[in-house]
Amino acid sequence: MATPRRRVVILGGAGFIGSHLCDHFLAQGSVVVCVDNYLTGAARNIAHLLGRPDFEHIETDISEGLAVEGDVDAVLHFASPASPADYRRFPIETLRAGSLGTFNALALSQAKNARFVLASTSEVYGDPQVHPQAEAYWGNVNPVGPRSCYDEAKRFAEALTWSYARQHQLSTCIIRIFNTFGPRMRAGDGRVIPNFIDQALSDRPLTIAGDGTQTRSFCYVDDLVDGVSKATAADIAGPVNLGNPVEHTVRELADLVRAQIVSDAAIAYYPLPQDDPQIRCPDISRARRQLGWSPAVTLAEGLRRTIEWTLTAEDSVQRESQQVPSSGRH
Ligand code: NAD
Ligand code: UDP
Repeated sequence: MATPRRRVVILGGAGFIGSHLCDHFLAQGSVVVCVDNYLTGAARNIAHLLGRPDFEHIETDISEGLAVEGDVDAVLHFASPASPADYRRFPIETLRAGSLGTFNALALSQAKNARFVLASTSEVYGDPQVHPQAEAYWGNVNPVGPRSCYDEAKRFAEALTWSYARQHQLSTCIIRIFNTFGPRMRAGDGRVIPNFIDQALSDRPLTIAGDGTQTRSFCYVDDLVDGVSKATAADIAGPVNLGNPVEHTVRELADLVRAQIVSDAAIAYYPLPQDDPQIRCPDISRARRQLGWSPAVTLAEGLRRTIEWTLTAEDSVQRESQQVPSSGRH
């Protein structure tokens, strides 16, 4: 008798990371149910999957309710604005996705007895006072700042996930994702890598917040997807950091992008937005130990692939024009 195929529900499946997860689980032989309301995602991210018998998509706002018929083996909750520019624009939607959306996602997991994976974030560490950040660190988050809608929604979602696991013996895993990049980030998404690539390709100044000495650690999306896949299959609850532990300043990143594009675009500095973390780097010891995971793609190689995709993407010729970010909005 044939084994039934696994059925994976991906919330936020039309987003940047979510759409790569759809591709990955389909390639693994699972049936994928993509759920999205297209708030910050795009139908074009999943256009290549439409019509496949093993791919279903449901357009709905998961904070309003979530109904999926049939058996489900895993629910992956990736539905939330993630770019600071997006969650500044949609603070209440972000809080609703992290709170009500997470309730609905966990209720679905419970009803189906399905493994639940929460896409949490390095932002739960806020502007960290411990470096690099290990999972045991509780963070330094401003509860009423411009980033709080995102940070606190994710912290609440983690607490809710933890509570469902304890009270209902649900199989759950919290992953804390650090800055991830790659193909399918919107040119107008506002995050630093798509901004710099878009600016350098159209010979506009690269916009650097503050003096560019703040650091981030950038993970290529294929590595991240591999980590999510391992966390879904494993029997661990987390939280577990998933990110690339090689740290760069924003200024170094600008130089790397300009070198790869062979651009002599200028640099335009603007004031550092409030609560912008000064440093960020994951301690991935737990992911190495419990999942046997570590990233393989360097920043330079990831940038090369992302730039190549940007140049060949259908909409590359009509890249959204970017405004120079200002303090408090980028
Ligand atoms: P994204 O904005 O490209 O994707 C998010 C997707 O969720 C979009 O398709 C959006 O339309 C959808 N969505 C938002 N609210 C929804 C709702 N209420 N109902 C249904 N769908 C909804 O962002 P991303 O970078 O792909 O991030 C995906 C997830 O990973 C997010 O939960 C984010 O917090 C997390 N994460 C991402 C990063 C990163 O660097 N990309 C870092 C940490 C955490
Ligand atoms: N940043 C920048 N120029 C931009 C966009 C962002 O210098 O055009 C900075 C931002 O202020 C932050 C870092 O780059 O210090 C990473 O920003 P991003 O929005 O990508 O992600 P974050 O880590 O802040 O969530």
